[in-house]
Amino acid sequence: MVSPAVSRLESLYADVLRRNPGEDEFHQAVREVLDSIVPVVERRPEFVEACVVSRVCEPERQIIFRVPWTDDAGRVHINRGFRVEFNSALGPFKGGLRFHPSVYLGTIKFLGFEQIFKNSLTGMPIGGGKGGSDFDPKGRSDAEVMRFCQSFMTELYRHLGEYTDVPAGDIGVGGREIGYLFGQYKRITNRYESGVLTGKGLSWGGSQVRPEATGYGAAFFAQRMLETRGESLDGRRVVVSGSGNVATYAIEKVHQLGGRVVACSDSEGYVVDEAGIDLDLLKQIKEVRRGRVREYAEARGVPFVPGGSVWDVPCDVAMPSATQNELHAGDAATLVANGCRAVVEGANMPTTPEATKALQDCGVLFAPGKAANAGGVATSALEMQQNASRDSWTFEYTEQRLAEIMNQIHDRCAQTAQEYGAPGNYVVGANIAGFVKVADAMLALGLI
Ligand code: NDP
Repeated sequence: MVSPAVSRLESLYADVLRRNPGEDEFHQAVREVLDSIVPVVERRPEFVEACVVSRVCEPERQIIFRVPWTDDAGRVHINRGFRVEFNSALGPFKGGLRFHPSVYLGTIKFLGFEQIFKNSLTGMPIGGGKGGSDFDPKGRSDAEVMRFCQSFMTELYRHLGEYTDVPAGDIGVGGREIGYLFGQYKRITNRYESGVLTGKGLSWGGSQVRPEATGYGAAFFAQRMLETRGESLDGRRVVVSGSGNVATYAIEKVHQLGGRVVACSDSEGYVVDEAGIDLDLLKQIKEVRRGRVREYAEARGVPFVPGGSVWDVPCDVAMPSATQNELHAGDAATLVANGCRAVVEGANMPTTPEATKALQDCGVLFAPGKAANAGGVATSALEMQQNASRDSWTFEYTEQRLAEIMNQIHDRCAQTAQEYGAPGNYVVGANIAGFVKVADAMLALGLI
C-alpha cells in the first residue's frame, strides 16, 4: 500500500516533470530529495498541505538573457546567460556561476535546487541560486574572457546585491572571471559593494581559504566520516576526478592528512602517479598555464590514459570532483571490487542514482555533494561576513572555522539519518536536515 505522503509526492513529481520538460538533471535532483523526505511529510503533512514542497521545486525567479561579445578578431558571438534565483527563505540567493558549453536551463536549475539544501546545511543565513552561461572559456584570451564577463555583468548586475543575490565561481569561473565581473559591477553601479560577489582576490575583498575551501572541506568531511568507522585518511590511496579548483585543493588536504592521491583527470583522460600527485607541478600546469593533465604526465614520465574511466584505478577513497553524472553504476562496481571504502562527492551530483545505490548497498560510505562540498559556499558566507564588518581574518582562523563547519554538517547529516531510521545514509540525512530548515522558514514567512 502506498502511503498518502508517497502518493502526494508522486503527483508533485509528475507536475515537476510536466512543467520542466527536457531538464533531466533537474528531474534527477528533485527525485532524490523527494524520495528522501517521505518520512518528513509523513510526520509533518503541513509541508505538503501548505504547498511548501511544490514551492521549493519552483524557482522564485528565472532570468535568461543574451550576452553579445566580440573576439580578438572582431567577430561577434552571442551566448546565453542564466540566473535562477531559487529560494531566499534563509537569506539572499547564493550560488556560483558556471561557464561551460554544456550549460542550459536544466543545468542551472539542478544546481540551484541542490544549492538550497546545501546552503541550509551550512547553518549560515544564505538562500539558494545558481547562474552561468554556455560560453566556453577554454582557448580564449584574457581579453576575450574580460569582454564576455563585462557583457554578462552588464545585464546581470540589476538582479544582484549583497542583500539580494550573491554569485561566486563554479566550473569555468575562477579568480580571473570574478575579477572582471566585480570590476564591471563596480563600474556600472558606482559602488564598492564587496559583498555582492564572493571568491574575490585577497587584496580586493576576498577571504583567505576561499580558493581552497571546497576541496579542503570535502577532505575534512571524508576524514570525519571515516572516523565513524575508526578509520582515517592517513595512509589511504585516494583517486580524485577532475583537476580544477575543487580537485586541486582536495588533493592538497588529503596529502596534508596523510593520504596519497594517485590519480586525477580532465575531460581528455586521466593520469596515474603512484608516488602521489605532485601538486606544485599540477598547479603550475592547470592554474598558471591553463594546460591539460596530459602535460603533467609528460613532465613526470607517468602514464596518461586518454578517455577511459579514472575509477578503474584502485583506491580506498574516491572523490569525484569534476562534473555531474561522471561516476556510473559500472564504475561503482569497479570501485567496490577494488575495495573502495568511501566515496566523497567534491562535485555536484557526480554519482548517478544507480551508482549511489550500488555503493550504499555494498556498505561503502557515501557522502553526497550537497554536504561534502558545502565548504566552498560556507567560506563564501565567511567572506560576506568579513566584507560586512570590513575585516579580514587569518588563514589559520578561517580554516579552523571551515573545519568546524564541515564537522557540524557531517554530524547534522549523521544524526538526522539516525533520527529518521536510516543510520549511515548521508543522502537521506543531508536532504532531510537541509529541507526541514528551509521548509520551516517558508511556513513562517507565509504564502510568498
Ligand atoms: P573547474 O572549472 O575549476 O574544474 C572542473 C574540472 O572538471 C576540470 O578538470 C574539467 O576538465 C573537469 N570537467 C568539467 N566538465 C567536465 C565534463 N563535462 N566532463 C569531464 N570533465 C569535466 O571547476 P570546479 O573545480 O570549480 O568545479 C568542479 C565541480 O565542483 C562542479 O561540479 C562544481 O559544481 C562543484 N563545486 C564547485 C565549487 C567551487 O567552489 N568551485 C563549490 C561546490 C561545488 P576540463 O578542463 O577538461 O574541462
